[in-house]
Amino acid sequence: MTATHSHVRTCGRFAALCAASLVFGLAAAADKKSPVKPAAAAQPAHDYSKDELHLLKVQGNIYMLVGAVGNITVQVGKDGVLLVDTGIAPMADKVIAAYRSLSDRPLRYIVNTHLHADHTGGNETVAKSGMTVAGGNVVSDIGASAANQAQVVAFQTVLDHMSGADGKDKPTPQGSWPTETYTTPERHIYFNDEGVQIIHIPNAHTDGDSMVFFRKSDVISTGDLFVTNRYPIVDLAHGGNIQGVIAALNKIIDIAIPADLQEDGTLIIPGHGRLCDVADVVFYQEMVTIIRDRVQDMINKGMTLEQVQAAKPTRDYDPRYGASSGMWTTEQFVAAVYKSLSPKK
Ligand SMILES: [Zn+2]
Repeated sequence: MTATHSHVRTCGRFAALCAASLVFGLAAAADKKSPVKPAAAAQPAHDYSKDELHLLKVQGNIYMLVGAVGNITVQVGKDGVLLVDTGIAPMADKVIAAYRSLSDRPLRYIVNTHLHADHTGGNETVAKSGMTVAGGNVVSDIGASAANQAQVVAFQTVLDHMSGADGKDKPTPQGSWPTETYTTPERHIYFNDEGVQIIHIPNAHTDGDSMVFFRKSDVISTGDLFVTNRYPIVDLAHGGNIQGVIAALNKIIDIAIPADLQEDGTLIIPGHGRLCDVADVVFYQEMVTIIRDRVQDMINKGMTLEQVQAAKPTRDYDPRYGASSGMWTTEQFVAAVYKSLSPKK
């Protein structure tokens, strides 16, 4: 129950923090009239020193770490520790303490699901608490300093944004950048006696999203490709698109095998919100698809964004997912869907 309690408190903070990361992207894309308004950035800074993390055993080798704004996935076993995301920067020491409470073996890998600071903010501190899997020639090849930290794996565009190589974003400190990127549809790691499938979904929440499938434990860690507490966030300024979000949800449903009467089946750790099973993702996918189709229909009729917003294509889902204030309002979501579907001029 503590995890649920923590989750509730986390949502409020997520509002302020994720606004900061989206506003950051907005600065570069202001001329594109991004729907994200910077108003939420004016909220007072949250004091994280009293915040606690909560560990939830999921199944197999996998734990879910809640309370660092973005959810963190922890895989432990004989080879060491692998984390999916590192949460916000101020919680990094607590993230280290949490994974060490599960294992005295070294942290070897961090996988970043995307660039946002509520998922990568702890990278520098947390990576330095670990060490790379390397021996003999490999150590001399990659250099001693690189071996003295965990490898940070992400899709190439995450590094492009974080390093400022995209020519738009202000660089984050170099120690927070991914150390190993991939550009193929998938990257595979065999770790702790299981295949770990890192799957890239093009242009969805951002242009650099990965979801991580732990094949033996039967758990999928989705990053912000799937969240349970709001409409999907589409970061248009970083290449996001609602069609990619739907593709991601379809991919989760494709991989996952639902529960029978005895077992839980595949479990899904969202970027924000509570632990889910496949049925939860199916419900969410249907909701997003229905709204996408309604907005497409209105675009086909020649309606403007203002007319589409006034027609409230999300109305029946608003009690559960809608917001009239905060970092991701219903209005902003509808605008993101509209812009995703509108032909580029
Ligand atoms: Zn995000």
